[in-house]
Amino acid sequence: MTDYVKRKELLLELNSKISDCSLCPLSSSRTNTVPGEGSIETPVVFVGEGPGADEDASGRPFVGRAGELLTKILESVKLSREDIFITNIVKCRPPKNRVPTAEEQKACSPYMLSQLAIIRPKLIVALGATALSYFVNEEGIQITKVRGRIFDWIGGIKVFAMFHPSYLLRNASRAPGSPKSLTWEDIQNVRKMYDQLLSGRNIDI
Ligand code: SF4
Repeated sequence: MTDYVKRKELLLELNSKISDCSLCPLSSSRTNTVPGEGSIETPVVFVGEGPGADEDASGRPFVGRAGELLTKILESVKLSREDIFITNIVKCRPPKNRVPTAEEQKACSPYMLSQLAIIRPKLIVALGATALSYFVNEEGIQITKVRGRIFDWIGGIKVFAMFHPSYLLRNASRAPGSPKSLTWEDIQNVRKMYDQLLSGRNIDI
């Protein structure tokens, strides 16, 4: 069995474990679990906070309005959803889209860590404050202050901070310095890093 096939199988086994999971209270209100999807050979994994209503209904990550915007942001630099892997810190929808509690994140994050161990990315793009706070343990960290920055994580993996697309939907201005214009800069840097990693180079932006 090739390494690719083995890893694909491991990911499917993990998805099946997630779909049966009742480790936290979010299991009681979900319609579907949303494990994540995309390439397992990618050097870049995008991580958001948790599924919303559309994701809960479909079982797929980032397919609602915020997801459509994320797809457009990726396409603006000629990246497709199939070029990367997309997942969330928690795999079940928090009621009314509230932020998942620390306990829910603690219960669910081992699934994401297993996904990362299988995919072995070199770069994680943290979408929004909740995802960033999971990876970067800095007191009072604010996404508005640190988006566009690269942080070191374990095993030489880098974490790049970006706004969550739902934040961009609430802040529609494209004026210079607005979240949307800054995201345009950030996604161009993601594209650069993706190309550098694909060609075996170190990240240099
Ligand atoms: S959010 Fe995660 S830990 Fe909680 S029930 Fe869903 S899969 Fe299990």
